[in-house]
Amino acid sequence: MPETSVDSPMINAIGVHKRFGALEVLRGVDLTVQRGEVVAVLGASGSGKSTLLRCLNHLETVDRGTIQIAGDTLVADDGQGGVRYPADAEVRRVCRHTGMVFQHFNLFPHLTVLQNLIEAPITVKKMPRGEATALAERLLAKVGLADKRDAYPNRLSGGQKQRVAIARALAMQPEVLLFDEPTSALDPELTGEVLRTMRELAQERMTMLVVTHEMAFAREVAHRVVFMDGGQIVEDRPAKDFFADPRHERARAFLEHML
Ligand code: ADP
Ligand code: MG
Repeated sequence: MPETSVDSPMINAIGVHKRFGALEVLRGVDLTVQRGEVVAVLGASGSGKSTLLRCLNHLETVDRGTIQIAGDTLVADDGQGGVRYPADAEVRRVCRHTGMVFQHFNLFPHLTVLQNLIEAPITVKKMPRGEATALAERLLAKVGLADKRDAYPNRLSGGQKQRVAIARALAMQPEVLLFDEPTSALDPELTGEVLRTMRELAQERMTMLVVTHEMAFAREVAHRVVFMDGGQIVEDRPAKDFFADPRHERARAFLEHML
């Protein structure tokens, strides 16, 4: 890890704006996530949560604002109402700090579990196959799926698929994991095993930004809650304060509805 990045926040987003045509989806988002922090992102459907995560991972480009990941600049405000992205190779390098876990797992259906895990480390990171395989086996054991290494995704339950997806993200050895509603596509009886894996990661001080509707998880595991409304973060407080006494009217209404 470069020395210069050790003291910088893991995520530092300043004044991020994003529009889709006439629709302004992010309207000046400021967000800082420190190393080792678990931050829950809450908010009603359409408030911009997924778009924010996708901008942090460069699945979307931003229109205005600055994003730094682990001290490296993904995009910088150009001071003239626009932004400047570095060269593609640098963007790819900065994006390797982050891993993403999606609602719908997005596993490669034609690859086995093990192949899903070693694909990116081998092709993107040029990791030797033996090393990638050893790492993948360690990660599968960690998420409790060592015995599924040669199975294809369609033979797994939703909870198992999502744990494979988490292991696959970890196989790229990111410094921060972004989760976009990781349990929303699961039957209720399968959410527990995924949340347990996420709790263990939090205990190991993995930095995590988690969009979730699991209020118990947010309350018990997250250090901070950011609440989004209309493309802005309207509340950003320690989780226990947020849940004890949400300040923003929309946050109060949201919690009343969820609890
Ligand atoms: P959330 O994750 O909080 O539900 P999203 O970030 O998915 O919110 O969406 C915020 C708004 O942006 C919604 O109105 C959504 O329809 C719109 N949106 C998201 N992605 C796109 C896209 N690729 N093109 C056009 N509109 C989009
Ligand atoms: Mg979403």
